[in-house]
Amino acid sequence: MSKALFIIDVQNDFTEGGALGVEGGGAVAAGISRLLSEHPDAYDFVIASRDWHDPDNDNGGHFATDAAPDFVATWPAHCVAGTPGAEYHDALTADAITFHVRKGQGEPAYSIYEGTTEEGGTVHELLDEHGVTEIDVAGIATDYCVRASALDAIEHGRKVRILTDLVAGVDAGSSAAALAELGHAGADLVSSTSVDEA
Ligand SMILES: [Zn+2]
Repeated sequence: MSKALFIIDVQNDFTEGGALGVEGGGAVAAGISRLLSEHPDAYDFVIASRDWHDPDNDNGGHFATDAAPDFVATWPAHCVAGTPGAEYHDALTADAITFHVRKGQGEPAYSIYEGTTEEGGTVHELLDEHGVTEIDVAGIATDYCVRASALDAIEHGRKVRILTDLVAGVDAGSSAAALAELGHAGADLVSSTSVDEA
């Protein structure tokens, strides 16, 4: 049995100044780095996702092309593979990451479970292989990719905690609703100050 931290989409395009920047994104990056430096043994594995879209198509209707984005199902172009916007935020300590996951190549992908590891496997396989039973979730955005990733982890039978001070959302109302939904689904909503050494 082991414990993992999911770092969801802490990328330049989802933080202040990015194509889809959310308020507080940079602080989430810095906060996660601080947590990992203060508690280096808290997690057996740190698994980070990146939205990683194709440059030459609308990624399955995910990018608004003909009309203005509705910021629910269609979005401005973001996190295009190989661009600075797709890279991790500078304040995130990338060398603490054990496994890198990319998602959204040619399609909308909100959950880390829809992504692929560098070895080409699924996240579900990775977690099974390493006996990960407990997962803390941090990152961006609370109301989209954090929500979808945490719900998938719960559905796959993991014990899930949301680090509520280390997430940032697109919209305050839908972020609050997402946290309530996750609580009802079985996640514990906790502050990162309650993260203990393993
Ligand atoms: Zn996307």
